[in-house]
Amino acid sequence: MQTSELAQSTLKKHFGYHSFRPLQSEIIETIVNHKDSLVLMPTGGGKSICYQLPALLMEGTCIVVSPLISLMKDQVDALHSANIKAAYMNSSQTPAETIATWEKYRTGALKLLYISPEKLISKFDRLMNATRVSLIAIDEAHCISSWGHDFREEYTKLSIIKKTYPKLPVIALTATADKLTREDIIKQLKLTNTSRFISSFDRPNLSIRVRSGLSKKKKENEIISFIKKREKECGIIYCLSRKNTESLSETLENFGIKSGVYHAGMSAKQRNKVQTDFINDEIQIICATIAFGMGIDKSNVRWVIHYNMPKNIESYYQEIGRAGRDGLPSDTVLYYNYNDALILHQFALESGQAELNISKLKRMQHFAEATTCRRKIILTYFNEHQTEDCGNCDVCKNPPKMIDGTIIAQKALAASFRTKEKVGTQMLIKILRGSSDKDLINKNYHFLKTYGVGKEISTDHWQQYIMQMLNLGLFEIAYDRGFALAISESGKEVLYSKRTVELAQAIDTPSSKSKSMETFRDENHDIIVDELFESLRQLRLAIAKRDKVPPYIVFNDAALKEMALKKPVTSIDFLMISGVGEAKLEKYGKTFINCIQEYLINQE
Ligand code: ADP
Ligand code: ZN
Repeated sequence: MQTSELAQSTLKKHFGYHSFRPLQSEIIETIVNHKDSLVLMPTGGGKSICYQLPALLMEGTCIVVSPLISLMKDQVDALHSANIKAAYMNSSQTPAETIATWEKYRTGALKLLYISPEKLISKFDRLMNATRVSLIAIDEAHCISSWGHDFREEYTKLSIIKKTYPKLPVIALTATADKLTREDIIKQLKLTNTSRFISSFDRPNLSIRVRSGLSKKKKENEIISFIKKREKECGIIYCLSRKNTESLSETLENFGIKSGVYHAGMSAKQRNKVQTDFINDEIQIICATIAFGMGIDKSNVRWVIHYNMPKNIESYYQEIGRAGRDGLPSDTVLYYNYNDALILHQFALESGQAELNISKLKRMQHFAEATTCRRKIILTYFNEHQTEDCGNCDVCKNPPKMIDGTIIAQKALAASFRTKEKVGTQMLIKILRGSSDKDLINKNYHFLKTYGVGKEISTDHWQQYIMQMLNLGLFEIAYDRGFALAISESGKEVLYSKRTVELAQAIDTPSSKSKSMETFRDENHDIIVDELFESLRQLRLAIAKRDKVPPYIVFNDAALKEMALKKPVTSIDFLMISGVGEAKLEKYGKTFINCIQEYLINQE
């Protein structure tokens, strides 16, 4: 049999899938032919199969380097559920466990061994001499590059692999790497004659929405109504600070929504418990700082909310990418406000790579403020050019109306000018709207000529306009002067009527009757309320508990959905479901078929 045919039948037999996703079969072919490769695929794109399948086809053991301990266990559980011999080796294990794993490895009983980079480096010679190694896969390979956004010192030592064994095929995989980082990975790992596989970064099943300039209360109300419409679904809310995660979780609780909290200030044990409960569908919602999700492979996360803006597009895309790994429609919402940008700017300044991080932050802000298809902007960022608008982002769904914003901008600029550019956004809006705020009166701003000239525009709308002006570069933030708004050179041109400016007409927030949040849900989201699906889900949960594995390792949501739709009652039909391989047919086929049969009888 040809490699490609063999790969195809192995895919169905072990993983239950009928066909490869784009690039998977080419990558597999490259590895089987003993060539190095660099794979760039988005989260959920299907990277694992790219080395797991060659591991099955090739003689010996595939070593997988992974920095994430929790992910190792997950991957190994998933492989076991497909009857593939695999194990992991890391610092979380007892000496007895390590010895047992080592014994299996040494005798060649494993097709895959997951290992942390530290362990691989410290035991490199022993590992390589103990048994035949078929290939080495390096997951999260961007960690090797200081250009990337998650540099890890221990990764740099991985160059030892190719230095010592130039002919051993190595596959480096990552979900986030710009051009520079990609080439740096190849250089650092000393890969030779490398085939580069850059898959499309598009995740069309994720809806993208940005909401800007909302007050805390409005933001939280929106989030609550968003969650209430998604009762049985799992989701993550990312916050910038530990305090936010806790207070948000409390607010949700007050509205009868249960959620877990996850941040770096908690003990490892507490964090582990929350993560495990989430993976096992025991907690549906997590309010977390960005520390959460790195080691999570959960395929049925149906939505991701950013309570605050992330620091760059890479992080943002990786975080929203945790939704909808199973390919089913999933929703993402980013809440953006200028304060977040200020805090992040401060972090970037202190980061040691200030220039790079500030420019990345700027790109993120541009994205959040965009008035053109957001997915196009993300894809462009990753050097991918799409000509068509996506139709699944807020801009595509509700294109902003552009208006001549010259007078609006002039009012704001003039007001700032009259304060000698001393005030920040909030005070500026108060002046424009003629507020009787105590602080404002104390500073005599009510005597300014511009006091109250913007009364007819609501505070919310002013927020949106000023944010746009910042992004257009009419205003700048004076970081050294208490974050006051400063008028830029181009701001002056507008102020002195030397040029005009276009602004996107400000929109009302949903609480003031706009439909922008609603249309998404109704048009886009495929609510799964099917009765049979629900029974299958319950069955899956029971089996997962019994076997002590996460529910999605039994079957993912996509497989359950297909079962609910096609209602297979014979083994042959059951095997036709995507995600059902031979091992799963044998383990779970009967039980799930019974469940479907029962449903059909009750329908008669
Ligand atoms: P990544 O590591 O790239 O984030 P995974 O390897 O975890 O993604 O794959 C994401 C999901 O897609 C998993 O549930 C996986 O089983 C599924 N998958 C991978 N390849 C295929 C395929 N060829 N057909 C259908 N589903 C696939
Ligand atoms: Zn779009």
